[in-house]
Amino acid sequence: MTSLRFELPGPLPADVRDLLRGHLYWVAPGISRVAVSDGDPAEVVVAHDGGIGDGELLALFGKAARDVVAGAAAFAPKVVGHSGVVLAAPMPDDPLPHLVERGWAREEASGSFTYGGPLAGAMEALDATLRRRIAAFGAADILLPSLLSPATLLTSGSLPSAGASANYVFHLQESVTATERLAAACAEADGRLEMSSVPSTSGSPDTVLTPAVCQPFYRTLAGRTLDGPLLVTARATCYRYESGATQGLRRLREFRVRELVCVGPEEDVLALRERLLDFALLSLRELGILGTVRTAYDPFFIDTAARMRMYQLAFGLKHELVAALPFDGSELAVGSVNHHGDHFGRAWGVRAQDGRWAHSCCMGFGLERWAYALLAQYGLDSRRWPTAAWGYPHGS
Ligand SMILES: [Zn+2]
Repeated sequence: MTSLRFELPGPLPADVRDLLRGHLYWVAPGISRVAVSDGDPAEVVVAHDGGIGDGELLALFGKAARDVVAGAAAFAPKVVGHSGVVLAAPMPDDPLPHLVERGWAREEASGSFTYGGPLAGAMEALDATLRRRIAAFGAADILLPSLLSPATLLTSGSLPSAGASANYVFHLQESVTATERLAAACAEADGRLEMSSVPSTSGSPDTVLTPAVCQPFYRTLAGRTLDGPLLVTARATCYRYESGATQGLRRLREFRVRELVCVGPEEDVLALRERLLDFALLSLRELGILGTVRTAYDPFFIDTAARMRMYQLAFGLKHELVAALPFDGSELAVGSVNHHGDHFGRAWGVRAQDGRWAHSCCMGFGLERWAYALLAQYGLDSRRWPTAAWGYPHGS
């Protein structure tokens, strides 16, 4: 294991440091840790297995870092509003070790957890509250799958652009050879499966785990002309592989999201998006979370990161609900409001009644991240949580 250091003009804002960390893991295989300091200059330290020479790595990192930082420098995020919540006694340290100690969260695999105790209760109560609040928009309940056809992500353009974070699902080939070789692989397994010699569909996976709740919804509208705006709400479990950037409940590989999705004429979608931004800020305030609603960007793969960030900020397409984590002064995105323009309408051939491509927007709330922010801001005693307004049984 060797480590490589380089400097960038700083200081870099926290969101840019986060974006940079996430992307540098993807520059080359064998990277085990990326750290970006908040000083000026910002020091970047990358630990790697030495499989690639330092000179080559440094050139790759330098280009990736310059692209990300250039994008960040071009636009400052625009704040829609602050929730203005005042916290009496936030937790002085990271809630996660306490949650593990109490058995409220138990890591199953890197980036996936089993939840219990008041943490599980808080996530369910939060979802029920959000669903109730979202219903006021006239959104109908639907149930959406987590297991998608690759065609869904290919048509929507999520592949290849977000291909690095996708989770591909395969199965064994239907043959005796495959089952016999798997049995041999299991016999030798030590908590880890080595399946490269087992005939399977890994070369052409027939399904992919959904990276976002709304992806399969657009497919259901393919080729249709809509009578008017369509609003639906669903909760789904989503999956994103984040390599070394996976971190506790802040950056999960498996996470639950409650979404509102709207597809319809441009004017209706734009008007709804404004209402959703108000709703997002009001939700932070009324559910007692100290945070901000502001413009943001999606973390796209490295060579398009800077371009996508500029594009999204320029057009204000993505807004995030960002909650404060007082114990280390950082922030965490707990939700987002996304305007997709006519991207999905064009991709799936969905038209508004006037014949133009349908526009779409969605609003999502990450249940794990929201609950994590709640604990960081109010502590582990559920009697102190600001949950009366959202129906959580106090003292449970
Ligand atoms: Zn969505």
